[in-house]
Amino acid sequence: MKRIYLLGSLNCDLSIRAPYLPERGETLKGSDFMINAGGKGANQACACAKLGGKIRMAGAVGKDSFGDMLLASLKSAGADISTVRRTERNTGVAVITVVDGDNRIILDEGANGEVTEADALALLDGAQAGDIFVTQLENPFPVVLNALKLARERGLFTVFNPAPAKAEAREAVKYSDLITPNRKELRLLSGKEGLDEGCEELLALGAGCVIVTLGEKGSLVYKRGVRLEVPCVSAGEAIDTTGAGDTFCGALCVRLAEGAELAEAARFASVCAGIAVTRRGAQIAIPTREEADRFL
Ligand code: ATP
Repeated sequence: MKRIYLLGSLNCDLSIRAPYLPERGETLKGSDFMINAGGKGANQACACAKLGGKIRMAGAVGKDSFGDMLLASLKSAGADISTVRRTERNTGVAVITVVDGDNRIILDEGANGEVTEADALALLDGAQAGDIFVTQLENPFPVVLNALKLARERGLFTVFNPAPAKAEAREAVKYSDLITPNRKELRLLSGKEGLDEGCEELLALGAGCVIVTLGEKGSLVYKRGVRLEVPCVSAGEAIDTTGAGDTFCGALCVRLAEGAELAEAARFASVCAGIAVTRRGAQIAIPTREEADRFL
C-alpha cells in the first residue's frame, strides 16, 4: 500500500446553540455547548487513519489544551503526527453559533497560519514516487501551492481539496492530479456555471481529473473520456453533514493508495461519507474500515 502525506489545518470547534443572535451588549442563554476536534486537514487525516491508510500529517497547533486534544484525537485514530509542530500561537479555533440549524462561524486560524515550506519539506522526507499527497486551503496559500508543486516534482499523486473556496487557488489547479471541489468551489475556480463546463475548465487549466462532490446528490467523476455520476449512499437518516466532504476526501485517498481506480475509490468514499452523516460531529462520526467494509 502507498503512503499518504497530508498538509493541512487543525482546529478546535466550539459550538453553542442559541434561540436567536444576541444584540450588541446582550448576554443570551444558550445550550448544547460542544468542543470538537476539527479543521479540514485533521478531519481528512483522521478519516485516512480510521479507514486503514498509512498517513502522516504536517500542520501546527498551539501549546494549549486544544492542541493536546487535537493531537490525541489523531494519535488514537492511528495517524503519524510527528510532523505536526507546536507553536507559540494559539491552536486554530472555530467559534460556531447555531441558530435554527444554521451555523454562524468565526475562525481564528492561530497556529494554522504559521505553517511554512519547511513543514512541507519535513512532511515529504522519505516519500516515494507514487505515494499520495493531499492538501486543502486552510494554511497560507503560498505554502499550499509550493507543497503541491514539490510533491508533484517528487512524483507523488497530488490530491487537492480546494476548500474553503478561494479564487486565488486557480493557480494550484495545474499541480493537481486530482481536484475535489464541491459545487460552489467548482464555480469559483472555473468561473463556469455548468457542472460539465466547470470540470472541462479545470481539465483545461491542467488538472489530471476532477471529482465534484454534490452533497446528497452524490458526486461526479470527470476526466478525459470519462463522465461518471456516483450516487450518494444512504446508511440511515442524515442528521449532521459536518465533515462529510472531509470523510469523502480521506476515504478517496485511502482507496487510491490501495491501488483502486478512481470510480471505485469514489464509490467507497460515498459509503464512508454516507455513514458519517448519520452521526453527530466530525472526526467522531467517521466510520472505521471495519464499519465501512461491513456496510459494503
Ligand atoms: P463539508 O464542507 O460540509 O464537509 P462538502 O461541501 O465538501 O461538505 P458535500 O458535497 O456536501 O461536501 O458532501 C460530500 C459527500 O458526502 C457527497 O458527495 C456524498 O457522497 C456525501 N453526502 C453528503 N450529504 C449526504 C447525505 N445527506 N446523505 C448521504 N451522503 C451524503
